[in-house]
Amino acid sequence: MLKLQNIDAYYGFIHALKNININIKKGEIVTILGANGAGKTSTLKVISGLLKPQKGKIKFNNKSFNKYTPEKIVSEGIIQSPEGRQIFPELSVEENLKAGAYTRKDRNNIENSLEEVYNYFPILKERKKQYAGTLSGGEQQMLAIARALMAKPKILLLDEPSLGLAPIIVKEIFQIIKDINKEGTTVLLVEQNAYQALSIADYGYILETGKVVLEGNSKELLVNTDIKKAYLGGN
Ligand code: ATP
Repeated sequence: MLKLQNIDAYYGFIHALKNININIKKGEIVTILGANGAGKTSTLKVISGLLKPQKGKIKFNNKSFNKYTPEKIVSEGIIQSPEGRQIFPELSVEENLKAGAYTRKDRNNIENSLEEVYNYFPILKERKKQYAGTLSGGEQQMLAIARALMAKPKILLLDEPSLGLAPIIVKEIFQIIKDINKEGTTVLLVEQNAYQALSIADYGYILETGKVVLEGNSKELLVNTDIKKAYLGGN
């Protein structure tokens, strides 16, 4: 469905991505793991059109995306829930959600989508009139994911949804990501929390200093001794 082929990307002289190959099949949860600075966010930026690669191809359903603007990529159904949440703190929860639907042409179905999203995140329904800035960290993360869902993504891009959250909230959010995927949305999950991410993903890529150093089925990666040492705190 989405393919990155031999991608090289730079920030000025900084070579952020080196010959990256990533393949996301329809219906899967794919995770990209790696430490700070490994190139995870840069990979998402290449997919969403914010960082144009010097080399390589981006293909979505066999169509080349290299020349597409970020707006065009969103309109094709590739929607990111950004790191750090970036919700609108001075709008209500529901206004934030409606803002997520701004690119949709089927305006009549937006109320239905709100109900669908509230089914995934009942807490947001309870708080729908509240200013988003007054939500807890976990609720703000839920709102960011919910707002991305309002755009009806074909692929949902999640940048470190577990960042800064208590383990119990992370578990809840990851369960919801799994449920969203079961209902048919393909997910690309960027994470530092390797264990949780691999537990819900079908396939994983490990990035180090801008390169894919390992990839495989999540079940295999979870028992891989190198990964255990580097990312899962094992021996
Ligand atoms: P993090 O978890 O910290 O976001 P990451 O794996 O997402 O890390 P990237 O943000 O993709 O890593 O960064 C990859 C490399 O590119 C790093 O060396 C980083 O310093 C560099 N980099 C990222 N953004 C910029 C920028 N705007 N200008 C210059 N260099 C950048």
